[in-house]
Amino acid sequence: MSELGKCKLCHVICQSHIDMAWLWRWEETLSFIRDTFAAEVELFEQHQDYTFCQSQLAAYQLAQERFPDLFEKIKQLVAEGRWEVVGGEWVEADHVLPSGESLVRQFLYGQLYTRDVFGLQTKIGWSPDSFGHSGNLPQILTKAGIENFVFKRPLTNELDLPITPFWWQGIDGTRVLAYRTTNKGWDFVNPIPEELVKRHNLHHTWGYSGTGDRGGVRPYKELGEDEHGKHIYSTPTRYFEAVRAEAVDLPVVEGELNYTFEGSYTTHADVKQANRECESLLFLTECLAAAAHLEGSPYPHEQLRDAWRKLLFNQFHDILPGTGIADIYEDAAKDYDLVKKIAHEIIGTSAQVFVSESDLAGIVVFNALPYSRSAEIETQVSGFTAARDVETGRVYPLVEGRFFAQDLPAVSFRTFELLKDAPSPIVPENLTLDNGVLRLSVDPETGSISSVVDLRTGREVIAAPGGNVLALYDESAFLNPGMPEENAYYLLKDAPREVAAIVSKPEPTLSQCGLPAIRCVHRWRNSTFVSTISLPPQEDFVDIRLECDWQETLAVLRTEFTLSIGSEAEAWHEIPYGAVKRERDGQETPSQRWVDLSDSRGGAALINDSRYGHSVLDNTIRMTLLRCATSPDPVSDRGNFTFRYRLCPHSGDWRKAGLMRKAQELNVPVAVISGNAKRSPQLPRIDGGDIEIGACKISENGQWLALRLCECLGCHTAASVILPHGSASAYEANLLEEPLSLLEVQDGRLHLQFGPFEIKTILIPLVNSPARYRLRNHYNIV
Ligand SMILES: [Zn+2]
Repeated sequence: MSELGKCKLCHVICQSHIDMAWLWRWEETLSFIRDTFAAEVELFEQHQDYTFCQSQLAAYQLAQERFPDLFEKIKQLVAEGRWEVVGGEWVEADHVLPSGESLVRQFLYGQLYTRDVFGLQTKIGWSPDSFGHSGNLPQILTKAGIENFVFKRPLTNELDLPITPFWWQGIDGTRVLAYRTTNKGWDFVNPIPEELVKRHNLHHTWGYSGTGDRGGVRPYKELGEDEHGKHIYSTPTRYFEAVRAEAVDLPVVEGELNYTFEGSYTTHADVKQANRECESLLFLTECLAAAAHLEGSPYPHEQLRDAWRKLLFNQFHDILPGTGIADIYEDAAKDYDLVKKIAHEIIGTSAQVFVSESDLAGIVVFNALPYSRSAEIETQVSGFTAARDVETGRVYPLVEGRFFAQDLPAVSFRTFELLKDAPSPIVPENLTLDNGVLRLSVDPETGSISSVVDLRTGREVIAAPGGNVLALYDESAFLNPGMPEENAYYLLKDAPREVAAIVSKPEPTLSQCGLPAIRCVHRWRNSTFVSTISLPPQEDFVDIRLECDWQETLAVLRTEFTLSIGSEAEAWHEIPYGAVKRERDGQETPSQRWVDLSDSRGGAALINDSRYGHSVLDNTIRMTLLRCATSPDPVSDRGNFTFRYRLCPHSGDWRKAGLMRKAQELNVPVAVISGNAKRSPQLPRIDGGDIEIGACKISENGQWLALRLCECLGCHTAASVILPHGSASAYEANLLEEPLSLLEVQDGRLHLQFGPFEIKTILIPLVNSPARYRLRNHYNIV
């Protein structure tokens, strides 16, 4: 081993890792917070040179509410610069499973709390225990005011990274200064070899001192000087400032920092489904509440903040990944129910601005997306057999209160009259479906999709053994009793593959919302899987609904789609506010709403409503649907689960497939209200480019309409935002809703240039708000 370098200063960084819920419920965590914070305050009182840093603003908020006297002492220590507030996130969240907007909100609500309570914002990202870090995080960190990033996972045996601090460069090109360390133990030795110290001029080093996961403190130790250099109690800010001041030519690492704990991408399907559902529901809720506010209704700031904080709390790195005990999922389920209750109340109140009572039997549907879309509509009515779009006259069959509506206009309401005595929907005659765009066949022997022909090009999309093949893997043989507990939530990749057996011949039927469909029932061991495969009229996707009765332990269920595609095809995966190309080697990866496999001539994407674990092996896209781990929850997943996914064939590569819109259409619900639409909302729309609207809300200070936009294709692109009537100005802002520059508005439009995967926050002054004028003076924007 080469000689270790001597440092000028070893910055001993003391910290305490508090898992907000893991092998204990959050209520128990309260006592860890109290005991840890109290013991730290005592150390500060005894030792003038002592320093400490602590992350997670949710933990501070709990301390503020429950232990106010203690909290006042902490505020004083923060003001003195001895106790450093780090992280900027509401909790130390998982960094691969939450949506891009959720990651933004972690920092928005974390940094705003830090500002409001401590009068500062941190520049230190702090995520030592989260299971990997997605590729657009450097941009999110930077635009939330964070320049430096401390992490631990993936560990050294999982991902080869520089031993020195390095520039972590995200998929958009943004860089943060990152350092991989540990959060446990006590080690002041400079681990950097002499040659690297010289090459990068690194004379300040990070000495870690920490404990956890139930919080706790390490005893004070007198620091001095040894053969490696002088040791002082310090803070992450002082360390990074010293490195930034002297280091030269630090290495650059590009892209995501993955993979670790691959099983956690799938375990506890319940929490992952609820997380996705709430993310999509809050998008809809904020859009509608903002629209109502533009018409003069009060904006429910407190309720929305409360809902977001509950959602963000449960994105903690042992809750959302499914790696905690059973009890914490009971707590999470209560939180998700509250989020949904808050959202539905706001939707109901906000919709009143736009909807009037009707004498006719009718419902009104609100599409929050800035483009026209289709959607499955679920009503509470009974005794009707059809729904008629009052604008277009189009009639849709209604089955048990559900129908599939098309061409719902952008950010608008649409009224449907409910009819009786309409003709019944038609059940297909055989195992082939044809909607004029795609023709699909199901194999009568296996129940898998044997063919999908894209009628626009004549191209066959599917190759043997087909699509929606249900593959199962027995993990039990691979579980070594000597393994650390955490390995029980790893996905054991090499388990032998079996295919679920078909129970009876596939049958033509109707989908849940009355579309022609084919139903197949498969079985494996004690579990049953019912697939309903349909082709909505004129749409370019295959819709699949899979109902699982899952009764396995230490087993994995995947759905597989083998595509007719060349060896040069590329696999692209959606990640939070971005996309990355990954290998076709079968590696389990965390992906968001879609995975695409295509070459320049075409291919297909698989879009999901709530699954994250995906892999691409040669020509096959595999989506991991369920598994059942046995530790720390002895039965992580058991019972009934329903998943929705869509196969989307397309010409050209993934960038030409409109995947963001298709993913939003499957995920973002429409609001359904009884009555009659009386007026249209004045919400912004996007013209040009593949720009996702990740949020449309009223800013936290109540003075702006705030839009979050993200370029989705990794390209330089131009797009314009069509502003609400009467808007004469707009500002570009950071993610903390602080305006940075004035934007030019021409004819009610904002012309924007986006870089690859760029996230923009746009603030539009509220036209009728008296605050508008105060604000302009206040910010004094030139
Ligand atoms: Zn942890």
